[in-house]
Amino acid sequence: MLNINDIFYSIQGESSFAGYPCRFIRLAGCNIKCSYCDSKEALNSAYSMNMDIEGILNALNNAGGKNVKLIEVTGGEPLIQENVYRLFEELLKLNYLVLLETNGTINLRKVPEKVIKIVDIKCPSSGFSNRFDYENLNYINETDEIKFVIGTDNDYDFAVDFLNKEKLKTKRIIFSAVSAVMPLKKLALKILENELNVRLGIQLHKILMLK
Ligand code: SF4
Repeated sequence: MLNINDIFYSIQGESSFAGYPCRFIRLAGCNIKCSYCDSKEALNSAYSMNMDIEGILNALNNAGGKNVKLIEVTGGEPLIQENVYRLFEELLKLNYLVLLETNGTINLRKVPEKVIKIVDIKCPSSGFSNRFDYENLNYINETDEIKFVIGTDNDYDFAVDFLNKEKLKTKRIIFSAVSAVMPLKKLALKILENELNVRLGIQLHKILMLK
């Protein structure tokens, strides 16, 4: 069984897959509480239900996008539920291109190689920048993505410092803004000024006012 917050069909908003139609499975619960979390409902068990894999696949069919083979497993933090690994295997068997959004604090060793991991490196303003599991750098491959959610100048400096210090196998790096406190244009200008080879993350689904 898996504790599920939501199953829906929308536009992928925040990775190099942004803009593509995508099916989403949002798992409930998280192991941390970031200051800016915009998935608060996913953290509340009152908004979740236990479902087996068959029930999840049925709910996916009812959610729309039957012909769409891009699917994202998100949360909350999906990897706190042990049965998520069975879900990955089932989705891969059904020939989905599977994306995983994860907060970087849980070891990625057991995630199947075919799953594309979008891994957060939490910056100081989240309150959890000391929780990244550095062993995960061994499991983040060239097709995976790393995301920094930036709310302050200090977060920006932290992210640049991380990129300078760590040897990463992927070049897919995203700088996203905490929209309430970091204007997107300010972040864009900093990226330009410092000539960083990173992608400015835009939360496309929010611009479109979709889930
Ligand atoms: S890791 Fe994600 S879901 Fe968990 S508290 Fe932080 S922003 Fe929210």
